[in-house]
Amino acid sequence: AKESGRNNFQFYTAAMNERLLERLRIESDLRNALERNEFVLHYQPQIDLETGRTVGMEALIRWQHPSLGMIPPLRFIGLAEETGLIVPIGEWVLRTACAQAAAWQRAGLGPLRVGVNLSARQFAQHDLVNVIAGTLQETGLAPHLLELELTESLVMTDVDRAIGLLGELKALGVQLSLDDFGTGHSSLSYLKRLPIDALKIDQSFVRDITLTPDDAAIVASIISLAHNLRRHVIAEGVETHEQLIYLQNHGCNEMQGYYFSKPVPPDVFERLLRQDTRT
Ligand code: C2E
Ligand code: CA
Ligand code: CA
Ligand code: CA
Repeated sequence: AKESGRNNFQFYTAAMNERLLERLRIESDLRNALERNEFVLHYQPQIDLETGRTVGMEALIRWQHPSLGMIPPLRFIGLAEETGLIVPIGEWVLRTACAQAAAWQRAGLGPLRVGVNLSARQFAQHDLVNVIAGTLQETGLAPHLLELELTESLVMTDVDRAIGLLGELKALGVQLSLDDFGTGHSSLSYLKRLPIDALKIDQSFVRDITLTPDDAAIVASIISLAHNLRRHVIAEGVETHEQLIYLQNHGCNEMQGYYFSKPVPPDVFERLLRQDTRT
């Protein structure tokens, strides 16, 4: 028993070392990933539930690591936040997504709104509004086609600052949405004070709408709350036809999820769009 205990200990140590080494490696590699052009954006369509048409897309980052392969955002965004690298990475995402949406617009495939996720660090930058205004100008994207996705925690950390900043962003003409809605701590009394255009219902509620009456009730309530406050609603993580029907019946405006498409590279997304315009 003693013997195997020691072996287990050695086993765990080796596994922990490996994980630690991978983390250190990712951290140092992350510093060079931008200049080495290793990031790519995938796009996930957002479908209008009334017309069935693609009206927008969310830009989602991936890291094409030379030896580790495609790394999903949840494995490096936290680290990028901690190191501050998220700021230049986020600016790259913003520029690339806006340029892409403008190009699809020029190609006659638009108008398509593009959603870009903002991190806490970016939101704390004093020049955020200038960066966004500059990016719109540089890429030629119409401001109303850019949607900035903010999380509740990001906005609720300092509500008064957020209200001022969101007002400045609205003055640029961009759209604002509250991401992962329902999972954070947004107080409903703040919601009416925030110049937010849309709520994105978190996928954890959408997942069980056809199984759990409580989740169905929550989703229906969020939709009617949002509509009463004249906000738009996007459901995330829609994977089944039953979920789609429920959302449609409850007047949800848009949906995004694997049922329609996973996030895909730009060339694949463009093919989806060309099919869409033909029908
Ligand atoms: P998010 O903003 O909530 O993005 C939605 C996530 O749900 C994406 O994961 C997407 O692939 C996934 N998803 C979409 N439809 C479905 C579905 O039907 N079922 C399931 N199970 N999942 C679905 P992804 O691409 O791995 O991104 C994870 C998170 O990483 C994002 O969550 C966002 O918080 C963050 N992220 C991604 N790109 C960026 C970025 O450019 N900047 C920042 N700051 N964060 C980003
Ligand atoms: Ca998002
Ligand atoms: Ca989300
Ligand atoms: Ca999320």
